[in-house]
Amino acid sequence: MPSYRNTQLFIDGQWRDASDGRTIEVTDPATDEVIGEIAHASREDLDAALAAAEKGFRTWRSTSPFDRSKVMRRAADLLRERVEDIAYLMTREQGKPLAQSKTEILGAADTIDWFAEEARRTYGQIIPARTVGVAQLAIKVPVGPVAAFTPWNFPINQIVRKLSAALATGCSIIVKAPEETPASPAELIRAFADAGVPAGVINLVFGVPAEVSEYLIPHPVIRKISFTGSTPIGKQLAALAGQHMKRATMELGGHAPVLIFDDADLDKAIEITAMSKFRNAGQVCVAPTRFLVQDSVADRFTEGFVKAAQAIKVGNGLEESSQMGPLANERRIPAIQSMIADAVSNGGELRTGGARIGNKGQFFEPTVLANVPTSAKVMNDEPFGPLAIINRFSHYDDAIEEANRLPFGLASYAFTGSVRTAAALGRDVEAGMLTINHNGLALPEVPFGGIKDSGYGTEGGSEAVEAYLETRFVSQMS
Ligand code: NAD
Repeated sequence: MPSYRNTQLFIDGQWRDASDGRTIEVTDPATDEVIGEIAHASREDLDAALAAAEKGFRTWRSTSPFDRSKVMRRAADLLRERVEDIAYLMTREQGKPLAQSKTEILGAADTIDWFAEEARRTYGQIIPARTVGVAQLAIKVPVGPVAAFTPWNFPINQIVRKLSAALATGCSIIVKAPEETPASPAELIRAFADAGVPAGVINLVFGVPAEVSEYLIPHPVIRKISFTGSTPIGKQLAALAGQHMKRATMELGGHAPVLIFDDADLDKAIEITAMSKFRNAGQVCVAPTRFLVQDSVADRFTEGFVKAAQAIKVGNGLEESSQMGPLANERRIPAIQSMIADAVSNGGELRTGGARIGNKGQFFEPTVLANVPTSAKVMNDEPFGPLAIINRFSHYDDAIEEANRLPFGLASYAFTGSVRTAAALGRDVEAGMLTINHNGLALPEVPFGGIKDSGYGTEGGSEAVEAYLETRFVSQMS
C-alpha cells in the first residue's frame, strides 16, 4: 500500500531540506487532513539552484542529442513502472480520481518519449552562399538555463512539457512546482535523476511563488521563462521577463466556447462535452465552458447535458466509484459560489448543482447554468471549476461573435454535421486550438497554446522545441 511522503528540494543532484529548515504543509483536499510537508527554499537554496543550473547547462549542452534522448526514454519507462505509486500521491494531494492520475502519468511518459525523438531533429540550415568556398550555417543551440513555474491542476503534465522540451534541446532547468501538489512532480524529477540526468541539469524548488519568480526571472543565469497559470499573473511575469529581455512562453487562462449547431450529433456532443467539462472537476485551462447552442436544439441539448451532470459520481478520488474528486484548494469554493450567485442575480437560471457538498473536503456539485447574460461575471471570468453555462444562438455569425467576444483565445469546441461549417469555423474562431466533433486536444505531437490574453508560444508539436533554441548564424570561408 503506498503512503504519502514529505517532499524535499532537489538541487545539484541532491534531495535536501531547506537551508533554514522552513517547511509548508500539504493538505488532502478530500479530507482537509494535513498529509505532509515540503521544503520551502530560502534565498541561499535558490542561489544554489541557480549555480547548479549554470553548471548543469555546461554538462548537458555538451551531451549529444542521441545520448540525451536515451536518458529521456529511460525516464519515461521509469514513470510507467512507477505509475501506481505516483498516482496515489497525485490523488491524495490534488484530489482527482485515481484513473485520471494514472492517465496523466502515462500521458507524461508519452510526452517525454515524443520530445526525446525531437531531440534528434533540432536541425539548422545551410544557406547557399554568394561566393564559392563560403559556408553559411544557421545553427540551433540551446537557449540556456530555464525557469519554469507550474500550477496544481495537472501536477505532472504541466511540468513535463517544459522539462522535456528543455532537456531535449540541451537546456538545464529550475522548476518551481506547485506547493499544493508537490510529491507527484518530485517523482517525475526522481525518474529523470534515476535515469541518469547529470547533477544540476534539473533542479526543483518550492516557496512563495511571487518571491521565487521575482528572484529567478531577472537573474542573469536564467535565459528563458515558461509559466502556466492565470492571465493576470502571466501578464506580470511576461512584463518582468520583457524588462530583462528573457524569452518567455505563457500558457494562461481560457474560457472555451462550445458551438453546437442544429445539424450536430447531439448525443455524441453531450457525452463528449460532459466528460471534458467535469474532468479534473473542471480545473482545466481548456475545459469547455461557454456552450452556445442553436435555438432549435437548445432545449434537447440542455436537458441531456443536465442529466449527464447529475449522473456524475462525486467522491474521494481514492474510491474506484468516484468520477469527480474535490476542488484542489479551498479558495476555489467561494470563488465559484460567488460566480453562480452573480449569474442568478443577473437573470441566469440554475439548472442543476450550485452548492458545496458536505462540510469536509472541497467537494462541489457539477453545475449547469442556462440563459446567462453576457454581463454576468461567469460569462467573462474563467470559472475554473465544475460549471457549464448553456446559452442560445440563432445564426452562425451570432455564434462566432459571442465565441470571439472575450479577450481569451485558448481552446474551442464545435459540433456540426456540415463540412462547410466545420471549414469556416477553423478560419473564424479566434482560438489557439479548435476541436470539431470530438475532443482531440493536448497530444504531445500537436500544438498546444493560446492567442490573445491566453498567452503565447506552443508547448506541443515540433514548434515547442524552438522556444528552447536560439538560431545563430555562422559564415565560414574555407
Ligand atoms: P493564482 O493566479 O493565484 O495561481 C495560479 C498558479 O500560478 C499557481 O500555481 C500559483 O502558484 C502560480 N503563481 C501565482 N502567482 C505567481 C507568481 N507571482 N509567480 C509565479 N507563480 C505564481 O490562481 P489559483 O487560485 O491558484 O488558480 C485560479 C486561477 O488560476 C484559475 O482561475 C485559472 O485562471 C488559473 N490557472 C490556470 C491554469 C492553467 O492550466 N492555465 C492552472 C491553474 C490555475
